[in-house]
Amino acid sequence: MPVADILFSPIEYLKGVGPQRSEMLQKELGIFTFNDLLNHFPFRHIDRTKVNSISQLNFDTDYFQFAGTIISFKIIGEKKAKRLVAQVKDKTGTLELVWFQGLTWIQKMLQLNENYLVYGKVSFFQSHPQIVHPEIEVLTKELMEGKNFLEPIYPTTEKLKSRALGGRQIGKLTQQLFKLLDEKKIFENIPVSILSDLNLISRYNAFLQIHFPENKVQYEAAVKRLKFEELFLSQLRVQLLKSERHHFSKGVVFAKVGDLFNSFYKNQLPFTLTDAQKRVVKELRLDTATGTQMNRLLQGDVGSGKTIVALLAMLIAADNGYQSCLMAPTEVLAQQHFHNISKLLKGMNVPIAILTGSTKTAARKTIIEELKNRVLNILIGTHAVIEKEVQFAKFGLAIVDEQHKFGVAQRAKLWEKSNPLPHVLVMTATPIPRTLAMTAYGELDYSVIDELPPGRQLITTVHRLETLRPKVMHFLKSEIEKGRQVYIVFPLIEESSKLDYENLMRGFENIKAWFPEPNYWISMVHGQQKPIQKQTNMDRFIKGETQIMVSTTVIEVGVDVPNASVMIIESAEKFGLSQLHQLRGRVGRGSEQSYCILLTGTQISTDAKERMKIMTSTNDGFLIAEKDLEIRGPGDIGGTRQSGILNFKLANIVEDKALLDLAKDFAFKIAENDPELITEENLLLKQFLQKQGKTEWSKIS
Ligand code: ADP
Ligand code: MG
Repeated sequence: MPVADILFSPIEYLKGVGPQRSEMLQKELGIFTFNDLLNHFPFRHIDRTKVNSISQLNFDTDYFQFAGTIISFKIIGEKKAKRLVAQVKDKTGTLELVWFQGLTWIQKMLQLNENYLVYGKVSFFQSHPQIVHPEIEVLTKELMEGKNFLEPIYPTTEKLKSRALGGRQIGKLTQQLFKLLDEKKIFENIPVSILSDLNLISRYNAFLQIHFPENKVQYEAAVKRLKFEELFLSQLRVQLLKSERHHFSKGVVFAKVGDLFNSFYKNQLPFTLTDAQKRVVKELRLDTATGTQMNRLLQGDVGSGKTIVALLAMLIAADNGYQSCLMAPTEVLAQQHFHNISKLLKGMNVPIAILTGSTKTAARKTIIEELKNRVLNILIGTHAVIEKEVQFAKFGLAIVDEQHKFGVAQRAKLWEKSNPLPHVLVMTATPIPRTLAMTAYGELDYSVIDELPPGRQLITTVHRLETLRPKVMHFLKSEIEKGRQVYIVFPLIEESSKLDYENLMRGFENIKAWFPEPNYWISMVHGQQKPIQKQTNMDRFIKGETQIMVSTTVIEVGVDVPNASVMIIESAEKFGLSQLHQLRGRVGRGSEQSYCILLTGTQISTDAKERMKIMTSTNDGFLIAEKDLEIRGPGDIGGTRQSGILNFKLANIVEDKALLDLAKDFAFKIAENDPELITEENLLLKQFLQKQGKTEWSKIS
């Protein structure tokens, strides 16, 4: 076997594992190879030298290690509460150990009057200390004189514990593994100059010391090194992709800004662009004229006016004889874009069409024909546009609105429609903190509209308990009497959840009782309606024929009705911050003072309270995104969980931001200076990346 490949040996072949345990390790912990075991890190280390006496235990004790003799066993309780309780005694007192699972096996394994080393988390049951499911081992001389004073404790499962693969015992396997490894087998992958600049220990040492450190300092050095490696490799990948695209990916050239753009700008534009909009249009213009393919993320808070920027870009494409496509995540939104853009283009010769799942067969056929014959300039639609039959004669620009609603694969299908690739603009209103955006979408170029059109009023946001519903309804009445429209949004946790729909229907009936026809008219939109129903209801609201829109979160993205001034969010505690912010963005689009009312039950979690507090204290989407990040961690910012881009094993992009910035800088330099990794210093890095395979590379769009 070649030297470096030993890490990819099946775990079964490690001494002490064998077929049965190997199967368990695979199933329970996903450990298939030596390398997986190497990367299964301990969650803490216990100081072997710190064996406490039971009398030292107090209410502040967290994890506790002691040595003692088992003096009794008994099984008590029934069914779920059935448990094995052992009393362990040392010179200073006794402590209870409790097991809820694997009782028979544990009873068989443990011996009365034998000495044990016990470790675990202390909990108090009726102010009585106990350790539930402890790590327990016969106290041998060998055990106490082990070389490493910090003993690793690994994540494990109850099932594995019952097969002698507890949190401690996995360490024995890791020890076994290290007997087979050395500096060559765990070879260095970070260029030496970076290691010395940042004072990082070698890769081999880092792995050794994250498992078996001699002291805390060593452990921390190991963690730092491995965190940096994770961040650096991820940043390097995106930077290399970006540099490859900049250097090699040919794009169509939009050489000029022509009559369509200019006459639209002069005669049709109903307002003055904000400075931020102007800046972004300029960025797009420059980017599409270079001859390399544009791949750009456009971020802008709800209502910041991304649509008009998209339209201007499509006009530049048209000026150069190219077709564009704007893809939106929902039928409602696609229709709305079509409606607005058609209106804006009125009187101009820019043929435009809409294609969605509900487009009739005949119309669809015409559209497909007209795309091929270059009759159509602009196609707007839902994911229906990515179907194979939909082909463009001269595809120049693909725009994806609210990109986080689409999967990576879906998006990619859109731009694979032509060769050379069209320019790509993905737009999102989910504000991602800037640094995070650069990390998650580092291979994309980045534009931001960080300014709202003038004259927008701040939306007044309040948190109200459900018990105050009548007051809220009276307020709604007074707004409607002023000629305004209102949204009432219900949570729909699962698209198919019966309970949620019942809830919605009950809410609808309730609202109808407050707002009876014919004085009031209500639209309702939800995911289980047919597209045509949705559309009709939506249209009536847009035209002002209904004053109230009751809906689920299908209304969340992009819907624009400037006359709507109140957004009521039912069971607001069930929504995350960014979703609440998105919903709130449906109002405050006209010149009238707008309101967002967050209705919740009386008993909500501390987290939910915190969310309500943040929402009522700021309108700033980027600030909210930062808070969201603090509260939830980077888990699912802008749908990144799905792609796993921001989920590192050790590093946390919030806490380790300084390290992330360093990683980014070094990665950037390498991608600039040696994009093919051919210098001597980068050879090992190249080798390592190739080994890791293409699977992870392709995660990023
Ligand atoms: P989003 O960025 O959320 O997609 P939209 O493009 O839907 O925002 O724009 C929100 C509203 O603001 C629309 O009614 C649009 O016509 C209007 N708008 C956009 N830009 C400007 C501007 N520069 N001045 C005034 N109103 C604008
Ligand atoms: Mg929008």
